[in-house]
Amino acid sequence: MSNSPEKTAPNVPKKLVVSIATFGCQMNAYDSEVAEGLLSHQGYELVPDALESEAHSRNVRVNADVFLMNTCSVREHAEDRVYGRLGMLSKYKETHPDLIIGLMGCMVEEHREKLFRRFPALDLMVGTRNIKELPELIEEVRKNRRQVAKIRHDGISIEYTDQISRKGRFHAWLPIMTGCNKVCTFCIVPITRGSEVSMPARDVYREASRLVSEGVKWITLLGQNVNSYDGNPHPTPLPEGEGVSSISLAPLAGRGQGEGKFNFPELLQMLCEIEGLEKISFTTSHPQDATPELYEVIARNPKLSRRFHLPLQSGSDRMLKRMKRLHTYAEFKEKIDRMRQMIPDVSITTDIIAGFSGETDEDHEATCRALRELRFDSGYVYKYSLRPETPAANLPDDVPMVIKEKRNNELFQIQKQIEIENLNKLVGRVVETFVEQASDWTPGKLIGRTYDEHKVVFPGDERLVGQFLRVRLDEVQNLTFLGTLREY
Ligand code: SF4
Repeated sequence: MSNSPEKTAPNVPKKLVVSIATFGCQMNAYDSEVAEGLLSHQGYELVPDALESEAHSRNVRVNADVFLMNTCSVREHAEDRVYGRLGMLSKYKETHPDLIIGLMGCMVEEHREKLFRRFPALDLMVGTRNIKELPELIEEVRKNRRQVAKIRHDGISIEYTDQISRKGRFHAWLPIMTGCNKVCTFCIVPITRGSEVSMPARDVYREASRLVSEGVKWITLLGQNVNSYDGNPHPTPLPEGEGVSSISLAPLAGRGQGEGKFNFPELLQMLCEIEGLEKISFTTSHPQDATPELYEVIARNPKLSRRFHLPLQSGSDRMLKRMKRLHTYAEFKEKIDRMRQMIPDVSITTDIIAGFSGETDEDHEATCRALRELRFDSGYVYKYSLRPETPAANLPDDVPMVIKEKRNNELFQIQKQIEIENLNKLVGRVVETFVEQASDWTPGKLIGRTYDEHKVVFPGDERLVGQFLRVRLDEVQNLTFLGTLREY
């Protein structure tokens, strides 16, 4: 580390300090945990985001020898933050030439070697399917001081490894598929993550069982569209030394549809049968692939989280068509009605885009009406930002920023009001809550997640972290419940 006083013995290579700053979705968070785990097993020291004074570029300091950014391309703003940091790091490197700067994630997949030309100070790029090669790439840069990139075009980007550096003791991310076969015109994912590829069902089962054997109680399944999971039955060979061979795959025998393939509801059912796994969530879903078969599995399995994220994007059929969402508003509403009928305690969340290409006042009004009618439990509202290389890049980005902001704000306020009303309806109930952590801010307080993943804060002993308890929801403050422990 450039300013570390650490002493190293002669002829013993200095332990390099690596820092990974993560942007974007949970899939990136998982990939960063894998990268950190692999590097730490190779003898690197890992430190949290080591770039200081981001807001004052003249005073930048990097407390690491290797600074990596795991990047996101979904919105322009996310890319701009990385470009801003690359600019600062390039300047810093003029006086600290030993610093190694690297990129991982979706921006690498999208822009590839072009980034080397734009940022000559950038040393390495690792594709989403090449994370395992990160240690050797860093070593290559260190030895030869030249730009290196490994970006594979095929295969799957998911890496299961017991060397992962998980942030949570009781909760784990578990990617089950990557890529997307849909062609929503605004979306960069099919370009950055490629076509859908599912992990074999037996690998998912084995990895979930391994996590449970390490004390994990809650698993969140990840994928760009988990509902279209289509798991091949054949397991990939067990990596040497992973120590999981004792996990029996017998429960899978004879299961799965045609030729032993598993679809998403079947995978969920199978995972629910793992003893010791107490809660399973998943994200995210495309409406077209959300089926009554899936609702049925959720309804009969209390282990499955009651939070269901189903992006609507717009309430206007004209916009939905322009976005190629493959459904109308009426079809979407029918799905929500059916889901609520089959899973009465479900909590549905959504994404909305404000100001997509060609959006008129009438289209915007249709989205406002949809929010009021569907009464989502939470909604993420975004201003549309054109992503080059997406199909929508050929459409005019013709809604002025000031209108996008106005519509964004209006949708946000409508949704926020509905959220507050929905939360207040739950006040007084006693609900199952998973204790996630002790509060960093208020000693003696615990932070938990309810059965439908609402945040609740309540007094309690930190030895209760990792347990499922019953908590009474007393009041709502800033979209968070304040509660009281009822029994444990
Ligand atoms: S389904 Fe989701 S990931 Fe796939 S193209 Fe549409 S928005 Fe992108």
